[in-house]
Amino acid sequence: MDILGAGLSGLSAAIVLASSGKDVHVHEVRQDSGARFDGDFQGIENWTSERDFFDEMREWGLDPESFKSDPFGIVDLVHPDDVITQPVTDGVAFRVVERGTDDHCIDQGFKRMAIEAGVKIHYGVKVDPSDCDIIAAGPKESSAVAFGEIFETNHPNHVTFQLNDKLAPGAYSYMIIIDGIGLICTCLWRKQRKSSRFLDETIAWYERHYDLDRKPIKRVGGKGDFSIPNKYVSEGRYYVGEAGGLQDFMWGFGMRYAITSGVLAGKSILGELDYEQEVRKRLLPLVKSSATNRFLMNRMGDRGFKAVAKYWMRDQHRTGDGLRFMRLIYKPGILRRMMWPFVRLGMLRKGTTPDGRSYVRMPFRRALKRDDWEPSREAELVALEWKMKQNEGGRTSFQAGD
Ligand SMILES: Cc1cc2nc3c(=O)[nH]c(=O)nc-3n(C[C@H](O)[C@H](O)[C@H](O)COP(=O)(O)OP(=O)(O)OC[C@H]3O[C@@H](n4cnc5c(N)ncnc54)[C@H](O)[C@@H]3O)c2cc1C
Repeated sequence: MDILGAGLSGLSAAIVLASSGKDVHVHEVRQDSGARFDGDFQGIENWTSERDFFDEMREWGLDPESFKSDPFGIVDLVHPDDVITQPVTDGVAFRVVERGTDDHCIDQGFKRMAIEAGVKIHYGVKVDPSDCDIIAAGPKESSAVAFGEIFETNHPNHVTFQLNDKLAPGAYSYMIIIDGIGLICTCLWRKQRKSSRFLDETIAWYERHYDLDRKPIKRVGGKGDFSIPNKYVSEGRYYVGEAGGLQDFMWGFGMRYAITSGVLAGKSILGELDYEQEVRKRLLPLVKSSATNRFLMNRMGDRGFKAVAKYWMRDQHRTGDGLRFMRLIYKPGILRRMMWPFVRLGMLRKGTTPDGRSYVRMPFRRALKRDDWEPSREAELVALEWKMKQNEGGRTSFQAGD
């Protein structure tokens, strides 16, 4: 068996197959698993099913103890008018993991599991996708980008999620702090010139509201590709993870889709299920719900975001559980199904891949007039501080064109 891409989806498929005795080769263009990322924190969500995702992983033979993770049941939710409230749940809402090539990163945990299962991983190679059984090569085009800064801080472990159309056009920013290392990241769902000004302004915002004592280390980022293909298996090849369009259109929480789809593809090749059917039954309804939510979010500005934040907190007040709202908005109910034709027509564009598969994808939206603003004095200082850090060797591992 040959797999293209040694990221989360490719390695998940490889582990399932090799554990059942298959001879598995994974071909990775980069020098290591996780090298696409540079030590940024990401959250594995726990709201698209009632079942805890780590229990699901264990059932599939994947060991969640093979990498470092930090569970969270509480976040600061920042409304567009800077009001801060706290959604909270008794269980685990999400777990923060690190992406990259250090030992404790999730990518390296999956690499170790794969090697233990007998998978042969070939790094730094280019192979023809048509020679592979599973395509797990991650995003191709940009529908959105995220930029972040990693820094040292004295602040205790913490997560903030901010809905703000100015700092993060069409989306959200976040701050994650784990064991003295912080990440402040802004997501741009509208394409911008001079994108670093959004990160500078976002950092300035967080500095105003939290006692961070921030010392910049490096800047990171990446792109997200949001598409829905007409087939998940084509000419005998299985498309998994973001290469198969399996991503969360609303917030970009793609890791769970990547791991799940990799496992499903592996099991399908072993004859335990039908990948095309299983993706359509289990993952596509969630992807469509998230796309419908994204369609609505694209029509909102800060006033809409405020209404969402208020509704979220009202729901928590009524039910006593801050996670219920997140579960609710991914539920593929009748209303979302009725909206689907409008979402398809209004947000997604048709296309064809070079190997002849057709898809609909969310293009990177154009900037709006309101995205043009002058940076604050504090943001200018953040930019200056970063320039100085760059002169001392601080690196940026992602440009919008990546
Ligand atoms: C900045 C940022 C923040 C994010 N935050 C979150 C988050 O908080 N929560 C979350 O769930 N998701 C998050 N995501 C999304 C998540 O990272 C992806 O959805 C997930 O990694 C997709 O997994 P994958 O296996 O499809 O792709 P990847 O994990 O990217 O793996 C694809 C692999 O294929 C390799 N490859 C590419 N082309 C080729 C080729 N031609 N030949 C061989 N190998 C190739 C790549 O080098 C890579 O190693 C974030 C993404 C970004 C960019």
